[in-house]
Amino acid sequence: MIRTVITGVTGRMGGTLSRLVRDSKELELVGATARPGSAAVGQDVGGVTVGEELGRVLESSKAHVVIDFTSAEASVAHARQCAGRGVAMVVGSTGFTPELRAELATSAKSIPVVLAPNTSVGVNVVIRMAAELARVLGEGYDVEVLEAHHRMKKDAPSGTALKLAEVLAQALGRTQEDLTFERHGQIGARPRREIGVQTLRGGDVVGEHTVYFLGEGERIELTHRATHRDQFGLGALRAARWVTGRTPGLYDMADVLGFQRTE
Ligand code: NAD
Repeated sequence: MIRTVITGVTGRMGGTLSRLVRDSKELELVGATARPGSAAVGQDVGGVTVGEELGRVLESSKAHVVIDFTSAEASVAHARQCAGRGVAMVVGSTGFTPELRAELATSAKSIPVVLAPNTSVGVNVVIRMAAELARVLGEGYDVEVLEAHHRMKKDAPSGTALKLAEVLAQALGRTQEDLTFERHGQIGARPRREIGVQTLRGGDVVGEHTVYFLGEGERIELTHRATHRDQFGLGALRAARWVTGRTPGLYDMADVLGFQRTE
């Protein structure tokens, strides 16, 4: 059994993950943490006592892997704790700045880390297909990414929308400079190389992403709609099984799913 710790266990994803790990035949819940000072600290969740200091939880639980869906800042701090103790990680948090990502990469020199802004297997297939479509369609199509999430989501655009924009830019030979996140006022004609990334927020939307390829006389839309958080959780468990025992490094879901690198 893979000895698993869930950080941020009181969160939306933390709750889903602790239930899925408890129901799993290959992973065993051996520890959990909540934000320091949280009322959940000291309480029982699925047979483990919630701690507030990950280092201590790792020591006492002899964990193999940590699944972390908290925030980018918290995940970076958690990765340092894991790196000091040789514990593998799956990081599902989003909102990583280049600096935070670089800090995570430093920890990943001593432990294996899967960094996955979207752990749903379906979404990762869509990301793959979006890149393929962009490569085949080439120039001549305007590319836009639209995402929608529940009203409580803290970062925008979603990590998945950013990932989609990144792979689309890569497939089309464009750069970060070509991404447009806002339009307002007298914007003039659309620059040909632009990749638009737009955000909707509201209600209880679990997560929706559409890539539009807008051409002359036709339009292709590639959509993924998540209707339940379990899909993210099940993908994270798959990543946890994959990452445990790997050589140190920073991996992503394409590695977990065995997609061949195209870049
Ligand atoms: P949430 O706000 O419901 O949960 C986050 C939890 O982390 C909270 O309970 C908070 O108290 C806890 N936390 C924060 N700092 C902590 C710390 N230092 N130690 C322990 N716990 C800490 O949010 P959520 O909807 O569960 O999402 C969490 C993160 O996962 C967000 O970044 C979100 O964008 C991302 N997310 C990723 C995927 C994916 O597929 N990878 C899917 C859904 C959400």
